[in-house]
Amino acid sequence: MSQVFQPVDTKVNFPNQEEEILAFWKTQDIFKKSIENRKGGKHFVFYEGPPTANGNPGIHHVISRVFKDAIPRYKTMQGYYAPRIGGWDTHGLPVEIEVEKTLGLTSKTDIEKYGIDRFNQKCRESVFKYLKEWIAFTDRIGFWVDLDNAYITMKNDYIESCWWSIKKMWDEGLVYKGYKTAAHCPRCGTSLSSHEVAQGYDDNTTDPSVYIKFKLTLESSKAISNKFNAVKPIFLLAWTTTPWTLPGNTALAVDASADYALVDIGEYFVIIANKLIEVLDLAEVDIQATIKGESLAGLEYEPLYNPHDYNVDRMRFIAGTTELEKQPEDKDLKYRVISASFVSMDDGTGIVHIAPAFGEVDFEAGKSEGLDFVQHVDLSGNIIGDYSFANLFVKKADKEISHDLQERGLLYKETTIVHTYPFCWRCTTPLLYFVKQSWYIRTTARKDRLIDLNQEINWYPEHIKNGRFGDWLENNVDWAFSRERYWGTPLPIWHCETCDTYDCIGSIQDLESKPGFSGLTGEIDLHRPYVDGLTYSCSCGGLMRRQSEVIDCWFDSGNMPIAQYHYPFENETLLDDGRFPADFICEAIDQTRGWFYSLHAISSLNFDRVAYRNVICLGHILDEKGEKMSKSRNNVVQPSAIIDKYGTDAMRWYLYTASPPGQSRRFSENLVGEVMRQFILPLWNVYSFFITYANIDSYNPRNSSQPTPTAELDRWILSELNDIVLKVTSDLDGYDPTSAGRRIESFVSALSNWYVRRSRRRFWKSENDEDKLAAYDTLYNCLYTIVRLVAPFMPFLSEAMYQNLALSVDAYAPESVHLTSFPVADTDMVDTELAASTQLAIRISALGRSARSQASIKIRQPLAVIKVLLQSSVEETRLDRVKEQILEELNIKEMEVAHSQDELEKDGIRSSSDNLYAIGIDTTITPELESEGLAREIVRRIQTLRREADFDIADRIITYYEGDGRISEVMNEHECYISRETLSERIVNEEPGEKACSSSYKLDAHSILLGVEKMAS
Ligand SMILES: [Zn+2]
Ligand SMILES: [Zn+2]
Repeated sequence: MSQVFQPVDTKVNFPNQEEEILAFWKTQDIFKKSIENRKGGKHFVFYEGPPTANGNPGIHHVISRVFKDAIPRYKTMQGYYAPRIGGWDTHGLPVEIEVEKTLGLTSKTDIEKYGIDRFNQKCRESVFKYLKEWIAFTDRIGFWVDLDNAYITMKNDYIESCWWSIKKMWDEGLVYKGYKTAAHCPRCGTSLSSHEVAQGYDDNTTDPSVYIKFKLTLESSKAISNKFNAVKPIFLLAWTTTPWTLPGNTALAVDASADYALVDIGEYFVIIANKLIEVLDLAEVDIQATIKGESLAGLEYEPLYNPHDYNVDRMRFIAGTTELEKQPEDKDLKYRVISASFVSMDDGTGIVHIAPAFGEVDFEAGKSEGLDFVQHVDLSGNIIGDYSFANLFVKKADKEISHDLQERGLLYKETTIVHTYPFCWRCTTPLLYFVKQSWYIRTTARKDRLIDLNQEINWYPEHIKNGRFGDWLENNVDWAFSRERYWGTPLPIWHCETCDTYDCIGSIQDLESKPGFSGLTGEIDLHRPYVDGLTYSCSCGGLMRRQSEVIDCWFDSGNMPIAQYHYPFENETLLDDGRFPADFICEAIDQTRGWFYSLHAISSLNFDRVAYRNVICLGHILDEKGEKMSKSRNNVVQPSAIIDKYGTDAMRWYLYTASPPGQSRRFSENLVGEVMRQFILPLWNVYSFFITYANIDSYNPRNSSQPTPTAELDRWILSELNDIVLKVTSDLDGYDPTSAGRRIESFVSALSNWYVRRSRRRFWKSENDEDKLAAYDTLYNCLYTIVRLVAPFMPFLSEAMYQNLALSVDAYAPESVHLTSFPVADTDMVDTELAASTQLAIRISALGRSARSQASIKIRQPLAVIKVLLQSSVEETRLDRVKEQILEELNIKEMEVAHSQDELEKDGIRSSSDNLYAIGIDTTITPELESEGLAREIVRRIQTLRREADFDIADRIITYYEGDGRISEVMNEHECYISRETLSERIVNEEPGEKACSSSYKLDAHSILLGVEKMAS
């Protein structure tokens, strides 16, 4: 007889099976078909956050990619048209730093010596160094994304769209060059934007904590000391964790309304805020006077370092502006005390050291007070001038400076502090706050819109919206987006030195049509140094040259909604034809200040629209013990090892279901192995069970009339099935693959542990009666629905099962599960009362098994009675309905409803309970019960022998036995039952012959020799 379905290997090698499916998808172009089939359907837009292919993909890429994959697969099955275009991030510091390492370059001077053209050529080559690995890995994890047409940020078309976006902002007055405090990486030699800074904080940075004495001038001392007739010098005490900024000090700030103490230290006085007096570490504090902050303002003190003595320029703010004017040499330089609102009484001394060249508040104070400005550090972070600590990197100079001040009697005390400090997110060099000129996008001008538009976005998890992301927008600062670097989208701003005019270019054509345009040689390349050579004439007659900066690579990726389509130069209808904004994006939580922000900022500013409607924000991935994975801890898990052992689907399933997307998840080989044992194998075994029996009976669902099943068990599992279809759909519509996956898991567990187990004998029965057919129909229906439900999560396993379940019986079925439609629930099938009853049966049975195991009575030993204590009388009806199932399940003869706990605690009763129910089983074993138990044991041994003899499930046999009188008694008494269960045509009390497969066993106190032999057919 020909088999309807392909036989299933219970020991299937999942990784190999996945490789075969990959080949099938490729030759049949299934991904493309899945998209094209839905053309004309509603658009579902997914944006790929572009990775850089200059390093090998790692586990964090796996997690984001599998989450990115599931939702569009689901939407496609729902009928949406969902092309997914891949992308590659190719610009920026991450790329430059890798190339610098390879070439052994350590500074910008090195790069310029090497040649910007050669350096950029190396960058261009390096960005696809691991392209092959990326493509192979993307393929292998089943992430369906169109890499053939991926957008690449370094292409001229892409860059031109970025220029267009910048020009649009420029025209609206949103781009400016500012003299502002910027976080500066001295190694990379460039400013970082606030969102880049936000990615590199280290909470455990040890820095010096020094208390410095600033000596009041004689005149100012007198103004204070006259009042109480003292002649000792007076010092203002200030605190800093960055001693390297002290040569740049040009003012001290106090709180006008606070009280300050003049404390007698012995040889001198110090002034310090009353509230912070304990930092002096004095056993007894001798306060000579209390002075209001406002009386300190205006006092003068001697500079720690007069810049003129060290060959460093002294500049001064023209008050109220950011312009600086060089100051003449002054040997008697004095600085003054100012009052300011930012002075804190929480730490320090209540007197703040101000160095306007470093730090935001210092700069603001310098501007408003017209303070001096001393910049004694170059952009590499080295001290300039003739100081004894000149030429040292600032962090190295800290010690030398403290030492120098100590020798001069200007150091009060020195300790260390552990605090939070920002480091370069790419090269881990400590960042320095520097006042310098940079180009900014005035995002603050549209802050309200950024905040309002965020309300239109669905964040998963939801708390990110007004938490992490919302806070970030509330505290918005302008986007410092120029970089003094080489490999990036060139800043499209040209400058005339003659008349100091700036001009922004919005397209190649715009540039080429400028009067006097020149420098074009060969094909245009929108990169340095090529673009640096493109010039044109200024209306004043001068020459327009490009500003040398490139732009933040986060601008590139944030502009991908339009740049991937070369908008507006092509695809002019993009914004209104369903391709914008994204319906869905998904990345790790650190992107709230990275890509999530840059997408949102550009789209809000240029289009006054959101860039994405739904975003899954993924938590971090940890090792098995819950520790962060890192190279130094040597606990990084290689995804390829896990894929080779268990296959992609087990790993994917684990990642979806281990914890909700926003939370961190642990990851290890063992944890994925658990998924294999607890979910995938049980599912595969149910499938294999079905195929095996269906083939024996030549069951074909196409020939079935599919009447509504009448058996309670069938109606129950179909009710559960339709219920989860409904709920899984709603979970996925709410971007919650975790709940959806967990629901499917518990369904499969119910299907395997209750439905199939309790239906087994329905499939064994030899006659092809209605009930058997109904069981086949029901199980087929469950499996065929499950494969489509899990298809977005486990694209391989579902495909393997689908191919057999669907295509074996219907040549016209879609050729892949990914071309089918997602199941739709039939709510008429959902029977909540039946579900509740069966749930009760499952729970009571579990309690019964637990009581049996506590009493060490095997399930094969029949018992007389179980007593059940319920929650309410409503449940008595339910219990009645499922009574037979429970009794059969537990191998017990009778059931009684108990009315109190006491009834369950009598002699001979073993009880068991969970938080809702309690049961007790009578453990008395009568000779009749014992005999029945032995019969069951014998059946089990014969079944084992049948398997050992490799008989087919349907083979009829002769059973031989030898044993004591008790055994013969049991055999005679239960002959019918034993024959039926084991398909024995005859049971013969004699020694098994040579042809029989035989073995002897010990059953309690009795020995038995058993043999089985196949009947001649
Ligand atoms: Zn750096
Ligand atoms: Zn000009």
